[in-house]
Amino acid sequence: MTSPLDPLLRPRSVAVVGAARKRGSISAEVFHNLLAREFQGPVHPVSARASVVQSVRAYPTVDSIPDPVDLAVLVVPAREVLETAEACGRRGVRALVVITAGFAETGPEGARLQDALVECARRYGMRVVGPNCLGVLNANPEIRLDATFAPHFPPFGGVAVCSQSGALGLAILDLAREVGMGVSSFVSIGNRADVSAVDLLEHWEHDPDTRVILLYLENLGDPRRFLEVARRVSREKPIALVKSGRTEAGRRAASSHTGALAGLDVAVDAVLGQCGVIRTDTIHELFDVGLLLASQPVPASPRVAILTNAGGPGIMATDACESRGLAIPPLPEATRAALREFLPEAAAVGNPVDMIASATAEDYERSLRILLADDTVASVLVLFVTPIVTAAVDVARAVTEAAAGSHKPIAACFMGSQGVPEALAHLRRHGVVTYAFPEAAAAALARAACHGAYRSRVPTPPPALVVDRDAVTGVLAAERDRGETGWLPPDAVRRVLDAYGIRRPRQAVAADGEAAAAAAPSVGFPLVFKLVSSTIVHKSDVGGVKVGLRDAAEVRAAYDEVLARLAALGRAAELEGALLQEQITGGVETFVGATRDEQFGHLVGFGLGGLQVELLRDVVFRAAPVSPDDAADMIGGIRGRALLEGFRSGPVASRPALVELLLRVSRLVEDHPEIAELDLNPVLATADGAIAVDARIRVGC
Ligand code: ADP
Ligand code: MG
Repeated sequence: MTSPLDPLLRPRSVAVVGAARKRGSISAEVFHNLLAREFQGPVHPVSARASVVQSVRAYPTVDSIPDPVDLAVLVVPAREVLETAEACGRRGVRALVVITAGFAETGPEGARLQDALVECARRYGMRVVGPNCLGVLNANPEIRLDATFAPHFPPFGGVAVCSQSGALGLAILDLAREVGMGVSSFVSIGNRADVSAVDLLEHWEHDPDTRVILLYLENLGDPRRFLEVARRVSREKPIALVKSGRTEAGRRAASSHTGALAGLDVAVDAVLGQCGVIRTDTIHELFDVGLLLASQPVPASPRVAILTNAGGPGIMATDACESRGLAIPPLPEATRAALREFLPEAAAVGNPVDMIASATAEDYERSLRILLADDTVASVLVLFVTPIVTAAVDVARAVTEAAAGSHKPIAACFMGSQGVPEALAHLRRHGVVTYAFPEAAAAALARAACHGAYRSRVPTPPPALVVDRDAVTGVLAAERDRGETGWLPPDAVRRVLDAYGIRRPRQAVAADGEAAAAAAPSVGFPLVFKLVSSTIVHKSDVGGVKVGLRDAAEVRAAYDEVLARLAALGRAAELEGALLQEQITGGVETFVGATRDEQFGHLVGFGLGGLQVELLRDVVFRAAPVSPDDAADMIGGIRGRALLEGFRSGPVASRPALVELLLRVSRLVEDHPEIAELDLNPVLATADGAIAVDARIRVGC
């Protein structure tokens, strides 16, 4: 299978343009690496000054290279890059890696130069990595391409790595070598002028050498394309990502709940959650999960068995697993009986299985075989603390013997120093991942299990929703014609909700106190009185919401009271009328919102309503269009989810009703991109429905 990125990652020949003679410079190191790692094709140095570079005949220009060149690595000064790229294009070069810095990262002039580079490359059909990057590498023994200036070449294996930062790329390659993580290929994308992380995902999707993809990114580029491609690729090959830039979250103007809550980072989390990408906080965690997925199958469920020879680490591991959403279920009786047959009386055979300090290598092997054969166990965490009686290497051998041919992931954690390094080396050689501490193992297993759950899910087909799109188009057009922008008046909001089947209480709008009293019986008692104002955002902050009104007289009095209150604040003129609503009883106060993001399009959020939403920020976002599974994840993803299930005899919320509401809101904003913000807060979620009692919609560009 050929990929458009083959000339870049599987070139037949390479030229290094700007190769200096003196070792220690970037260009000389790139050239040296290509030779020293034994690239399996010819490597040509191009140098204006030297006729020989590191014992290889050099050419004065790209045009003078007699053989065809697939990949040219440019290490010339920035001002010469364009002209060199032209020469490469003319010479029939198919891909460029531009290591040179001094482009978009430096300002507008550099950005123009970068655009010109891309334009030139497009003209000749060349792909470009960089500029301002560390280079590219393919560790496959049949290729052995190291077009980087990194000091170390990683071992070959199933992990593909893409780094947006060159410096971190160096650190990643270093760490890969240190922990023995086998790399298929590595690309430092630098300024990402042409080749992006998404292009690489598409390449690695079909690359037989790659099993797992690790990304270090500072931004997702085009998030919609990332979502689309990552969603597809991660079903076959796990993708893990560490993204920096979490602190940008506060950058957005906060004119509504949803807008304030949906910071940039939230948007990134939303999109990653939707496409099965594993997000980690640190590079170390990225490696921890990458190592596991590169050598072990994806866990079929979160059920873990822990096998140990010491109680303390077993308890630590149990806590670490459970706090990360893994289950340590009690083992079935048959499994316990099988273990009891040979383990000492004092051993615990529940879960964790604590074989106590006297455990031999043979005990490890037999126990591990039994656990792996148990259908209720999806993965095994093997802990070993060096006691005096048993050699770590023997236990390591026992583990790999038992693990051979197993289709369940095994993570090991050998603690102590005596004989442990040898044991770890043995485990690694046999593809069993090892961790320094149980917590790291638990975190990696939890992330892998979460990914497994994503993968094994059969997508729920979206229900057919009946909506009246034209009605909303009409409402929004009428508002625009009135010259109004911003928040829609209550009647317009009502028509929008009704057209999209979003449930709301029975209601009436009145211009003043007298009209409100007259309209009240049509709503029914008890009712809720709310002030109407285009300037007052939080009605209850100014005492503008009165619940439990029992007759028309109370409605009249409520109006006067609110008016008096506003007058005392000098804001009487802001009172534009009254909204009377049927009073909904029971139900959990939840929050549903949508906000439009420049890069991500609309984001839809779900959380607990009222105070919780602002105070605890317990909201989960997904990018529209929201699928039924996304909606279920949003509802199940909030920390306070127990409150939806009748916590302490509280009301129970109907999940299907909430799912449907989220789908309707998603459809509404997808159909009408001019909706900038929408807040339904609260939505009262009862056992038989989800009713939006307070709705605000802002239109605008
Ligand atoms: P605001 O958010 O502007 O202060 P809301 O319309 O959200 O005003 O009302 C404030 C609170 O009053 C809600 O959080 C809810 O607890 C209660 N409430 C409002 N409308 C109703 C209603 N129709 N039925 C029951 N409770 C309501
Ligand atoms: Mg409200």
